[in-house]
Amino acid sequence: MVSDVRTTIQELKELVAAFARERDWDQFHSPKNLSMALAVEAAELMELFQWKTEQQSWQVTSDPDLSHRVSEELADITYFALNLCNRLNIDLASTFMAKLEQNAAKYPADRVRGKAAKYTDYP
Ligand SMILES: [Mg+2]
Repeated sequence: MVSDVRTTIQELKELVAAFARERDWDQFHSPKNLSMALAVEAAELMELFQWKTEQQSWQVTSDPDLSHRVSEELADITYFALNLCNRLNIDLASTFMAKLEQNAAKYPADRVRGKAAKYTDYP
């Protein structure tokens, strides 16, 4: 059974590659098109929360239909992110960890705890 606990990023990347290959869609999957498709899917996710208050946006946890739609948009975003990684030979796990370390240096926990400002705004 597929789950976050049991499935690797590499396995998902291989499923994405096979899905596109079986449909002869790689010809359409330039970095430009994939980055745009990713942004469109991110906008579809945002649309689900558009005009809701902060409080209402939390109701996704108690609304099965909305929760399902949010999950599907996140899956669409992931599909295009992994597809772009495939096309550009990006190792997502190592890149993710490097970026997390960069952000940890930009936002030292003892300096930014409980604050939402951008790193350039800290003295
Ligand atoms: Mg979508």
